[in-house]
Amino acid sequence: MVLSLEGKVALVTGASQGIGRACAIALGRAGAKVAVAARNEIKLQEVVNEIAGNGGDAKSFVLDVASEESIKSTAKAVIAHFGSVHILVNNAGITRDTLLLRMRRADWDDVINTNLTGAFLLTQAVISSMMKARWGRIINISSVVGEAGQAGQANYAASKAGLIGFTKSLARELASRNVTANAVAPGYIETAMTAVLDEKQRGAMLGQIPLNRPGTDEDIANAVRFLASDEAAYITGHVLDVNGGMYM
Ligand code: NDP
Repeated sequence: MVLSLEGKVALVTGASQGIGRACAIALGRAGAKVAVAARNEIKLQEVVNEIAGNGGDAKSFVLDVASEESIKSTAKAVIAHFGSVHILVNNAGITRDTLLLRMRRADWDDVINTNLTGAFLLTQAVISSMMKARWGRIINISSVVGEAGQAGQANYAASKAGLIGFTKSLARELASRNVTANAVAPGYIETAMTAVLDEKQRGAMLGQIPLNRPGTDEDIANAVRFLASDEAAYITGHVLDVNGGMYM
């Protein structure tokens, strides 16, 4: 069964590669019009071309989620082009890993600004569009690390745990407008973000995964597409672990 998102407009951040790219393509395949947003225009255009190649409708928007100005102008541009935003996937994220004692203020600020404050500002910029439509889906990409913690990632874990509290609060605030808010918490997914791990670290990760394989960006995109669909209409304030059993 293909979950139909015909007539819906999705905005995906960090859509130039990895999980965001896979989400944009999956939502496009399900029939949504897709605004693909990130900083790298060339990569965004490739994603747009892929969605168009599948018969979908997509447009790229250059967006820096660490900049309030960029968020506001992009939200306006997306709504001007597509008329509305029904599905928002806050996926853009970065890491600046180091132990607490060595963590610079800038390492903390960069991660919180991009991963958490960016999601807050962009959600705020598009929410009236969802409320007006009396239909909306906010899907925040958190992490297993936001649930379990991780040495060397105090900044990143705080941002991802923050997204979970943010998601649950939105779920309560927006339910009466038929807008749901959920988080997806990926485990160890093979993308550019995790390509920096060496063989030893990779082995240690795999050792913690009962399903005995790393996740793929499509594993995450499948969960996001489900949460965006009408089939997930009664699910809100949920954190969906997509982690092969790594944390339960
Ligand atoms: P990648 O590093 O492959 O992709 C990150 C994406 O975020 C890129 O498209 C990048 O695009 C975008 N991005 C980064 N900074 C900004 C910014 N300031 N403004 C706009 N876009 C930005 O990572 P993944 O695909 O692996 O990660 C996607 C999300 O999933 C992240 O939030 C990550 O924390 C989360 N996650 C990943 C896991 C994994 O194992 N891979 C596990 C758990 C969670 P560009 O450079 O073009 O701006």
